[in-house]
Order: sequence, then C-alpha cells, then structure tokens
Amino acid sequence: MSIEVRNISKTFGRFSALKHVSLRVEAGELVALLGPSGSGKTTLLRIIAGLDVPDPSQDMQVLLSEEDVAARHVGSRQVGFVFQHYALFRHMTVFDNIAFGLRVRPRQQRPGRKEIEEKVTRLLRLIQLENLGNRYPSQLSGGQRQRVALARALAIEPKVLLLDEPFGALDARVRQDLRNWLRRLHEEIHITSVFVTHDQEEALELADRVVVMNEGKIEQVGTPDEVFHHPKTEFVMRFMGHVNLFHGRVESDKAVFGPWELEPDEGVYTEGKDARLFVRPHEMDILREPDGRPMAEATVKRIHSAGPYVKVELHLESGEILLVELSHDRFREINPVVGEKILVGLRNARVFSEDYVI
Ligand code: ADP
Ligand code: MG
Repeated sequence: MSIEVRNISKTFGRFSALKHVSLRVEAGELVALLGPSGSGKTTLLRIIAGLDVPDPSQDMQVLLSEEDVAARHVGSRQVGFVFQHYALFRHMTVFDNIAFGLRVRPRQQRPGRKEIEEKVTRLLRLIQLENLGNRYPSQLSGGQRQRVALARALAIEPKVLLLDEPFGALDARVRQDLRNWLRRLHEEIHITSVFVTHDQEEALELADRVVVMNEGKIEQVGTPDEVFHHPKTEFVMRFMGHVNLFHGRVESDKAVFGPWELEPDEGVYTEGKDARLFVRPHEMDILREPDGRPMAEATVKRIHSAGPYVKVELHLESGEILLVELSHDRFREINPVVGEKILVGLRNARVFSEDYVI
C-alpha cells in the first residue's frame, strides 16, 4: 500500500510544526524520516496514522493506496504503530501481548483460538523469540521488548507500518543489531514502512529512501547515496555527519577559499557573494611534499588512532580547526606527529553560495 501526503500543514497554537509537506512512499518501500528533534517527524507520522489531523486547507490530502483517508479514523486505516517507549502490557505475557490486537476485534472478525495461536507462533518465530512467549515484558531485554512491540503491531496485518524512533531508548550495540534485523525483516515481509529517526547513520543504513526534515519542512528526499553524496542544502550536508567548513568568496567565477579555487560543476556562481566550502573529514588528505595540487599549511594538534580510521586534528594558520580522517595505511605512510607543520589537500568538496543551488 502506497502512502501519499499532499500539502500538509500543522500548527499548534501559533507554532507551525509542519509547513506544506508533500511526500509519496511507494508500496513496499522502507522510508526514513530523518531530522533533528522538533523538526516535525512525529507530527507527520501521527497525521499519516490518523492520530492527528492536519490544518484544514483546500488542496491538503492524505492518501493510503491512492484513497483519501482524511475522513477515516485510526482504527480503519490498517496502520501498525511502534513507538520509542514500548508500551507493552506489563501484566500480559509476550504471547498475550502479541495476540491482543486480534482478541479485541469484534466477534465476527475475530479469528478462532487455534488461528490466533498459529499466528502468534509465526510472529514469535519472525522476531526470533520463539521460546519466550510465556515471559512477561519485565523479563525481557529492551531490544527484545521492541521486537515484541513490532510483532504486536504486525499481528493485525497492517498495510502500513509506522515506527517512531523505535530503537531510540536502546544502547548503541543493541540499536545496531536491531537495525540489521529490521532491514532483513523488511526484505522478508516487504510492508510499506515509515521509520522516524534523528540518527543519520541509522537512516542511511536502513532505508530505501531518506526524507531529511528541518523546521517542519522537507529539505531533501533521496536514496541514502543521494542525500549523503549529493546534499541539496547546507542543512543536509551538515546533518549527515561531521564537516569541515571554510568561508570564502566568489571571484572571477570561482569560489575562493584560501589556496582552493573551485569552479561550479554546472551553472555559474554569482560574483562577489559569500561562499562556503564543506569537506567531510575523509575527503581531506595530508601530505609532506607539495604534489602540484593546491594545499594549505596546518599544524598537527591531536591524533586519535583507536578506531577504524585515524582522526587527525589540525589547526590552520587562520586559526580554523580541521578534522581529517585517514586510513591506517595512509596514516603510516605519512606518519604525522603532533606539533609539526604539514600540508592539507582536498579530495572532494561541496560549495554552497548565495544565488547558487546545486
Ligand atoms: P520531532 O518528532 O521531529 O522531534 P515533533 O513532530 O514531535 O518533532 O514536534 C514538532 C514541533 O511541534 C515541536 O516543536 C513540538 O514542540 C511541537 N509540537 C508537537 N506536538 C505538539 C502539541 N500537541 N502541542 C504543541 N506543540 C506540539
Ligand atoms: Mg518525535
């Protein structure tokens, strides 16, 4: 089932939480809503679910499977919900928690005892908790509880699954495991899913497409590769992880940042405007000898090598601080030491300038 929202706005008092948001999620897709706290992710999810109503307007629409559901209430939208704080029923076993949505159905739609049992058993297998059906929530780990919450949401055979920071309260290792697990689960059951997170790594690893939100608006929609490698706005660039920022100006059609002069890939920069250069730490290189490319001189301040990459902090003469990430091989080759002066070059960079949009 596809999901589509068109021109959705939502105000709380005088505060505008969503501003003319339009988005389409194709059937079977797993889409991440990614943005900082307060950017409107939960509000958008609640509107899709029917838990909140958007501001009334002429051309506003919420469509599930191309059908306008504005007038349909939550219960009939066939939406499964998982929240950050697993609201499992404490006094019920895992089995009963998962069966709950089926047992509360009106008599005519309620499956028989045997059918419920088979279904819950299948779901327990799906979430890999086959032998824990008789436990109570308090006897499970946080990660296990979230898997039960997911099974409970899936039990009613929703057409759409909405997950609001479902791993937000768990520690990093468990989050990583559940992320991989959810990706595999989605490949198995292919239910249209919208996943809210403020963690860019989680969104990039998990989703087919990422929707980057900021202050109630969508900044960019794209595949993980697109939003990471081709950010459309400075906000997206900054939100995808650490960046080194240089301030410069447009002179003679080039954006000039100290030794670096960059021409636009397409179009032209506007003469005299301020420009900003963004470079991710792994897109910089350090060298001892000039190799013909433009280089800046910098002093090595700190080296942090306990990790998959070596992080080198450098200070430019102008006082700016740079972070460079090198492979361990490259680091050994150059072998920089704290306190020495060294050359810094760019492998890749993005320029943002007024009146110029990529
Ligand atoms: P996110 O999930 O991205 O953190 P939310 O959608 O929860 O953001 O909230 C967006 C903004 O709307 C926040 O500033 C929040 O304070 C405000 N907001 C959300 N729900 C309400 C509400 N019921 N009443 C007033 N303000 C709200
Ligand atoms: Mg939220």
